[in-house]
Amino acid sequence: MDLVPSQVMRLMQLGQSERALHSQAIWQCVSCQTCTARCPKQVDCAGVMDFLREKALAEDSIAPEQQPVVVFQKAFLDNVRRNGRVNELELTMRFKAGVFLRTRQAGWLFKDAGLAPQLRKRERIHLTSEKAQDRALVERIFARCSSSSL
Ligand code: SF4
Repeated sequence: MDLVPSQVMRLMQLGQSERALHSQAIWQCVSCQTCTARCPKQVDCAGVMDFLREKALAEDSIAPEQQPVVVFQKAFLDNVRRNGRVNELELTMRFKAGVFLRTRQAGWLFKDAGLAPQLRKRERIHLTSEKAQDRALVERIFARCSSSSL
């Protein structure tokens, strides 16, 4: 991260949200909630990171090098919404195609492809996946999250 969570929080306190908004850190945050859980002042740091990502998306002010992160997050959420759980093969293909379309770098299509046999052997990636039975519940979860975001 170019800024650690406490630095992002300090920028927000000082009214320098633009610097925080354009940091790499907000896209490298994986929302693990560790900073929120450990903050001695009970600041919801992970929530602030979420807010900044949504603001950057709304303003379309995402650094080119962070585009793959955005593509991955969209592909992941679309995948879960459609299947109710992750279909790893579909997610991988959508992610790679999405990054390629945005960056026009063909290397993305084959990046990490050499890992696939090992991942298959260790059953860390599956060629098929079941869909969630209660799709209406999945839709309700997405609808509820959408109405509470920016
Ligand atoms: S939520 Fe986790 S990954 Fe994100 S800033 Fe906090 S500690 Fe880092």
